[in-house]
Amino acid sequence: MKTIFTNAMILPGAGNWTPLKNAYLVIDGDRIVEIGSDVYHGVADRTIDCSRKLLMPGLYNLHSHTPMSILRGIGSGLPLQEWLFDRMFPLEARMNADDMRVGCRLAIAEMLSGGVVSVSDMYHHTAEYVQEFLDSGMKANVCFPIMDDNPSQGQSRVSRFDASVDFVRQFDGLNNGRLKADFGIHAEYTNSPEGIARYGAVCRDMNGRMQLHLSETAAEHEGCKQRYGKTPARFFADLGVFENPTVAAHCVFAEAADIELFAEKGVVPAHNPSSNMKLGSGVMPIRAMFDAGLRVALGTDSSASNNNQNMLEELHLAAMIHCGFNHSATAVHAAELLDAATINGALAQGRSDCGALKSGYKADLIAIDLNRPHLKPNLDCAALVAYSAQAADVSMTMIDGEIVYRDGRFLTIDTDRLDADLDASLKRVFQGG
Ligand SMILES: [Zn+2]
Repeated sequence: MKTIFTNAMILPGAGNWTPLKNAYLVIDGDRIVEIGSDVYHGVADRTIDCSRKLLMPGLYNLHSHTPMSILRGIGSGLPLQEWLFDRMFPLEARMNADDMRVGCRLAIAEMLSGGVVSVSDMYHHTAEYVQEFLDSGMKANVCFPIMDDNPSQGQSRVSRFDASVDFVRQFDGLNNGRLKADFGIHAEYTNSPEGIARYGAVCRDMNGRMQLHLSETAAEHEGCKQRYGKTPARFFADLGVFENPTVAAHCVFAEAADIELFAEKGVVPAHNPSSNMKLGSGVMPIRAMFDAGLRVALGTDSSASNNNQNMLEELHLAAMIHCGFNHSATAVHAAELLDAATINGALAQGRSDCGALKSGYKADLIAIDLNRPHLKPNLDCAALVAYSAQAADVSMTMIDGEIVYRDGRFLTIDTDRLDADLDASLKRVFQGG
């Protein structure tokens, strides 16, 4: 099927954030086949008028724990350790597979309506809710992370090594590649070095991709140095983990030598400004990372620590906090953050033909309704998206040429059923019903 978008303002992306005005974009099947100015003279099965709309690449959320959306807001205002151990862990222990599915579906609905086309997801029992991604048509890199025994902290968890590897074997590449199954390591402090080294080697043998948490808090970063005499980044590198394409969430306390290591190994930091601010973790050294040539990506983290899945808000916060924190209005630039929210995420997920509006690329795109007071006048399009646009301004989300959300309607999610399922889950998790 051939679709043509006409009369659009188009932001191509991939470093080019200068808009094409009064332009058209043609899609054949799941790919973009042509972008041009003025009038398209070919024939299409479907024509979509985009007057007063901005077309841009869909957003890539490079770090989340989608099922936690059913715990949105719980424990807000508590210190991190209390939030995690006293509130999150007991509630998570009550969540069954149905609850995870509904939390995941709720997160997907929120993301699709906010222009997110793909997410990197990490949680427990991923095999039990991964069908939600397949049903919704959303792209996702999902992992079932290892959380092995960790003698250094006296913890004893059940090894998930085999199940994690089986998850990759079973699910990677489904839905015509929209679903990718990644390897995942929860963190340095929840795993043994031996388990991590063995797991990293399996990932390498299977040509896999790795997701992990790294240097999110001062306690984690300094604790690792005390335990092993090195930073978490050096710890993972020495165990061979970074020989795999790796997305490292947070990296708040990454040191200069860590950033050099990331550059050498191609590690992609996933920046989560809301979560890092809300939990009081700190500010990632993003300028030093960009200067070292890192392709920094952007993520929301879970709705328990954010409290939403709103990537335009992350973009806005990232554009603000580094300037404020560094006392410099040039600490970050809208264009490099737009790359972080789109093509950098796509490449980090192993999607080399996604993340930009270019001929031959997958048709992952969003429309932003420019006919809003806060989006007028449009004198600097990149700045408008980074500083002024809101998630609710997204009027259409298309993934692989399929419209999944348009004008407030979800085309792949039954929202009445989602509401009913959510009610049942909330009753079960919070009232034991
Ligand atoms: Zn996380």
